[in-house]
Amino acid sequence: VNLQGLRVVVVGGAIGGASAALVLARAGAQVTLLERESAARPVGAGIALAENGLAVLHALGIDVVPESSELSGARVVDARGRTLFAPSGEGSRVRMIRRSALYTLLGEAVARAGIDARFGEELSSLDGGRVITRSGTLEVDLVIGADGVHSRVRATAGFDARVRKLGASYVRALAPRGLARNEEAWTSAGLFGSFDLPDGTYWYASCGTVKRALEQRDLASLRAAWTRAYPASEPLLAALPSFDALLIHDVLEVECSRYVRGNVALVGDAAHAMAPNLGQGANSALVDAAVLGDELRRADTLQGALQAYDARRRPRVQAVARTAARLGALAELTNPVLRSLRDRVVMPLSARRGDGARLALQEDPRALAQLAICSSAR
Ligand SMILES: Cc1cc2nc3c(=O)[nH]c(=O)nc-3n(C[C@H](O)[C@H](O)[C@H](O)COP(=O)(O)OP(=O)(O)OC[C@H]3O[C@@H](n4cnc5c(N)ncnc54)[C@H](O)[C@@H]3O)c2cc1C
Repeated sequence: VNLQGLRVVVVGGAIGGASAALVLARAGAQVTLLERESAARPVGAGIALAENGLAVLHALGIDVVPESSELSGARVVDARGRTLFAPSGEGSRVRMIRRSALYTLLGEAVARAGIDARFGEELSSLDGGRVITRSGTLEVDLVIGADGVHSRVRATAGFDARVRKLGASYVRALAPRGLARNEEAWTSAGLFGSFDLPDGTYWYASCGTVKRALEQRDLASLRAAWTRAYPASEPLLAALPSFDALLIHDVLEVECSRYVRGNVALVGDAAHAMAPNLGQGANSALVDAAVLGDELRRADTLQGALQAYDARRRPRVQAVARTAARLGALAELTNPVLRSLRDRVVMPLSARRGDGARLALQEDPRALAQLAICSSAR
């Protein structure tokens, strides 16, 4: 498809939207990016960039290395630090970055690419070839819905989607440098992970048995419960200045029966929000953008490219989302008998199979890094 001059509106300016806008602008499209927030949100804890997401960022000319920490030897452990699972080989390389740092890098790339980025501008509705915002109407050839789990693009364009709570809630926070264990512990209270960032520590925990303390916004009970279940968490919780420093999220899953409808394509959480347990939500959004670009390069027509994008992405992302949900359910077990069965039987078996990390990447990272998004038409 020759995208020169194609009028594209991307709704949502976070990881999925910014990367899709960059891919399309590099192919020559005339891209308008709508982001309802007035700027990229400066808060947001950490994010694990896996080999697939790293490859796409590399292809987009974005260098995350100075802003991120390489994780090597990260393991899943029990509360006493005994290894339950130690990923190795292909698919196990990860870099940890502050979410705000990644947003800044993407924002700078969007500005360099000359994309018409409109912050504080919200999609109100869609009407065939027109995008309606509070301040006016845009005529478009292609709309990209990158507006997250509660996507208005998805709702307005009539996508058939199931949105459900998976039952888990997570807290996430940043702490001073040097407190990370660089491990995810599966404990009697839920899971607890802590990882190095270049200038701090990123930690997260599923709420499990400490849900009550969270609901009551009771930091002392939260600290006590976690310290009992996982003593290594103590310094991280002690470093929390207040309850408000915690980011709290219910885990939501979005399952769509298609990612494309007419001239509208969904990317990222709008199409496939998933359990965080494989660390593939944001990485999958980056892969969406790259595959969309690749299919546009291969196909003769825009519709052909969009259908190929749907056919290539949906089965792979849905398989990853199912695995992430199953892993989450395993990680968050609090029943002692089931936990013991998991630790003695299930984990050794899955470690022996050993292909999980590679399958989670969905596309070969080497191929992603070489995609045509490198060869800018501009
Ligand atoms: C606890 C937790 C940990 C996670 N850890 C990881 C991890 O380590 N690795 C990983 O890969 N993923 C992780 N994820 C998942 C990841 O955060 C998401 O998958 C990713 O951020 C989705 O990006 P997105 O751009 O699709 O959507 P979002 O980040 O939701 O962005 C949507 C954007 O659209 C804007 N918007 C919404 N509505 C409108 C509108 N009507 N008009 C204009 N703009 C609009 C919003 O303001 C927002 O900027 C985690 C998620 C959770 C909850």
